[in-house]
Order: sequence, then structure tokens, then C-alpha cells
Amino acid sequence: MSRCGGPPHNRERVFKGEAMDGWRGEEAMKSVEVAFPAVLLLSLLSPSLCSGDGVAVDGAREFDYFLLSLQWPGTFCRRTRHCCPSNGCCKRSVDLEEFTIHGLWPNYNDGTWPACCNNVFYDPKKISPLIGKLSKYWPTLSCSPSSTCHGGKGLFWAHEWEKHGTCSSPVLQDEYSYFSTTLDLYFKYNITKVLTSAGFSSSNDDKYKLAEVSTAIKNATGGTPWLVCSHDFVQELRLCLHKDFSPRDCGVLASNEQGELNSKDSCPMYVRLPKFTRPTESKLKQSTEGEDRQALEVLLL
Ligand code: 5GP
Repeated sequence: MSRCGGPPHNRERVFKGEAMDGWRGEEAMKSVEVAFPAVLLLSLLSPSLCSGDGVAVDGAREFDYFLLSLQWPGTFCRRTRHCCPSNGCCKRSVDLEEFTIHGLWPNYNDGTWPACCNNVFYDPKKISPLIGKLSKYWPTLSCSPSSTCHGGKGLFWAHEWEKHGTCSSPVLQDEYSYFSTTLDLYFKYNITKVLTSAGFSSSNDDKYKLAEVSTAIKNATGGTPWLVCSHDFVQELRLCLHKDFSPRDCGVLASNEQGELNSKDSCPMYVRLPKFTRPTESKLKQSTEGEDRQALEVLLL
């Protein structure tokens, strides 16, 4: 089996707006990674490069710190135009009034990161005891299958493990540790509770000062977070953690491929935490795909 090689990715991304709904919209507005031209070039030159949006770094140097990335369904699910059985935005069994997990990402201090390390595949059997918690707290909020490091498509969990989890060694050495540790960190830092206790609850009317949101998290966890917004809607909140999982500041600057420094926060001075609204039958009517309608009808029963 071929092993993969290539440069580390740059974590700087550009979010193009929130106006588009649904997974097709998500695909179109999916974050644009600055490293893409270099990745494309390498993929043309190197037959061993992994496909998908993870770039393999075989024998990559050890990472510097972790990013625990959380997503705010109230923002993410606004883009849902159609439903399917796997989409957490549409499932009644999933509580989407709080941040859910996006992933735990090993990162370098220069803003780049390794991806698709060690040529390891996702194996659902290894995490079967965790499935209940993962479904609830780490749901996919989309219908489209995710890219894997080996040229295929798979679950969101497969994507996160293969792209990021495999590079967490030597701190996290296997799939079970990667997922169970991420769940533990999610519960330990309980960011939704931290924000609610500090007066920042989900609301379609209130706007909160970004600096105050950030300070509330710093006070509770010990580390300044990194917020990612779609306009003034908080979309992601990232905690930075040392390799022993103690919090550290995310910092406000990150370098891009050219080594230029950019502000990390894509949020304006005042931000919102919009309430979660489950996609409705009326929204689904806008979809042209009959099978999506059928899937939603089943879910809403
Ligand atoms: P990452 O940013 O972790 O490298 O990649 C996230 C990818 O996972 C997205 O491009 C998308 O293809 C897939 N994906 C599947 N479900 C979700 C989800 O709920 N949230 C996000 N952000 N990405 C998802």
C-alpha cells in the first residue's frame, strides 16, 4: 500500500458566508485552505500523495499542541437545505442546544499541521463502546460523506481520525484513545456551560462582545480560545491545549504559507450564538430531491 508524502497544511481558512444552505451549499462555501495550490501541484507530481482534503505527511515531525475544535449547530444547521438519516441537524435524538465536537487536531506552532499520518485506516469496531456518546456529542451535521486519506469517502469520524487522529502520536496512539480522549476533553471543558454561566446563552436577538466571550473562556479554562464566525454568527470555537492537555492560549496570529501573519479570529467585535432550529418540512419543500423528503419524514415521525 502506498504511503503518502507532502507538506503540512495551513490552518488558516476563509469562510465565504452563511447564505447558502444544505450540504451542496456547505461544499460550495467549504473553507478554502491556503495551501491548496501547493497541494494540487504535489498531487500532480507525486503518485503517492493521498487524495481527499487531508495531505499526508509520512514521517512528519511531532506536532506542538492540540486544537479541540467545537462547532455551534445553531449556526451550522442554518445551512441545511435537505435531510438524510445521518445528518445530526435533522435528528430528534441529538441535542443541538450546545457545542458539538468537530475534532481534535494536532498542530504546529507556525499555524500548519500534519495530516494523514502512518497510513492507518478508520476501523469502526475499535470504537464501538463509544458510539452512543459519539452520536450525541460528535454528530455529523451534514449529509455528504467525508473524504478519507485513502481516496475514499466515509463517516465524519473516519475523516477526523484518518486526517488528524493518526497524527496525534505519540500522545494518542490508537483510534480508541483518540476518540475517548476527545470526548473526555469535551466534557471536562464544557464550553457551553461556561458560556451560559457567564451570561452568554443562545439567542437570536442578543449580540455579545467577542472580547468578553473570549475572557469568560480564558477565566474558566486558563486558555484564550480561537473563534471562527460566519458573519457575526459563531461557527466554531477552538481550545488550544498543550500535549498534556492543559490549556494554553491560542494566540491571535497565525502565519500563512508565505509566512505572513494574519489575525486568526474571523469574528467581528460583536458576535451571536443563534438558537438551533431543526430543519422543517417547509424548508425541505425547497429541496428537489424526493428521497431527502422521505428521509426527513421518517426522522420527524
Ligand atoms: P476538517 O476541517 O476536520 O479537516 O474537515 C472537515 C470535513 O469533514 C469537511 O470538509 C466535511 O467534508 C466533513 N464533515 C462532515 N460532517 C461535518 C460536520 O458536521 N462539520 C464539519 N465542519 N465538517 C464535516
